[in-house]
Formats: sequence, C-alpha cells, structure tokens
Amino acid sequence: MKLHVHRLRIDLHLHTHYSEDGRTTLEEAIQYAKEKQLDGIAITDHDTVQGALKLTKRKDLIVVPGIEVSSRHGHILGLNITEPIHPKLDITETVEKIRSLGGVAVIAHPSVAIKTGMGTTIPSGLGIDAVEVINASAFPFSLSTYLSRRLAQRLRLPETAGSDSHYPLEIGSAYTIIDADSNRDDIMEAIRKGKTEPAGKPISWTRRLERGSQNIRKWLGGH
Ligand SMILES: [Zn+2]
Ligand SMILES: [Zn+2]
Repeated sequence: MKLHVHRLRIDLHLHTHYSEDGRTTLEEAIQYAKEKQLDGIAITDHDTVQGALKLTKRKDLIVVPGIEVSSRHGHILGLNITEPIHPKLDITETVEKIRSLGGVAVIAHPSVAIKTGMGTTIPSGLGIDAVEVINASAFPFSLSTYLSRRLAQRLRLPETAGSDSHYPLEIGSAYTIIDADSNRDDIMEAIRKGKTEPAGKPISWTRRLERGSQNIRKWLGGH
C-alpha cells in the first residue's frame, strides 16, 4: 500500500513588519497566504523571532517560526527557531547555533549580488541543511536561480524556495513543495531529507517598481 504523503506548499521565506523593511502585518501574512492557497508559511524576520512567536499557535495555517540571521558571511535562514540568534557570527557558528536549537539552516539567496548573499563559493562540510534555490525577490532572477541550484547540486543539499516577501502581495510568489505530514517536526525532517521541490516565479515588475517608490517615500520621510 502506498504511504500517503501530503504535498504541502509552504513559503519558507517571509518578512513581516517585525523586520525594519517589512510592511506585512501578522494578520495579512496569514490572510494572503490563504488567498494564495498555501498550506503554510515560515516567518523569517531579520534577526528577530518576535513576530513569528505570536503566530505559532495558529490552527488555520501551518506557521513555521524562523529567523533570517545576518551572519558575517551573508543571510542564513533558521527554520523552526523560537529564540533570537546573534547576528554577525561567522557562517559556521551561525549554522551550529541554528542546529543546536533544533532548527534547519538554509543558505538564503546565495548568489544575489545586490543583497547580502553568501556567494556561491561556499565549501561543503559546514553542516548546512539546505540551499534556497528560488527566491522570488532575487534579481536578476533566472541567473540567481541557476547559480543557487548549481550550488545546491555541488553541495548535494536539499533545495528550498520562498518569496522573501516584504509586502503582502508578494507572499507565495515562490514556495517549497514538501512531502510531509502537516506538523512542524515532520516538515523539518522532510526538508533535511530533501523531500522538497522549489517552485515559483519572480515578483512582478509592477511590484518591484512599487517597492522602489515605497522605499523612496520612506527615505524622504513620508509613508
Ligand atoms: Zn536576505
Ligand atoms: Zn529575507
């Protein structure tokens, strides 16, 4: 008899207004994820778990608490993390810390030049659990996806995807299809074992332009 597995669609990289540059409220994160028919989201704010912790008891959507750590060597996603991890540690220390807390360590947007990417020269043997191969906010998208996938293949690591959304409309533009039961432990185990399939598209040009103008308004002190 074939064992039943769910193909869960989870956006594994999402920011809320608990990130300095995030505009999505916690309620909007839930609401838009449901509208996009996702099974779940990971809340991965920059260097804080404050927002994520407020959503872990939700029953209407899978919410994986997480963090995007600004390590000295780039951004690292810690999934299944419920306490803050010090930024500015090196990659090995950051990965070790995530794993010692029971989390899954994912290299975020490794090849994005204009963001804080880790670079595609990462050696193997650092204890990294997975590589974010599709990041909907990455630019240039196709090149970034290609280089990230090559890194994942070279390191023989599972591949994930996430929107890296900072605004509600971007939620779910990329997501990871995970073969797991809908509980957090099973999902983490499935990611570690590579039962994942990255999916998604880049965020639209209209969204990018809107993001740009919102940032300019912010710099000018408006809203
Ligand atoms: Zn990042
Ligand atoms: Zn991010």
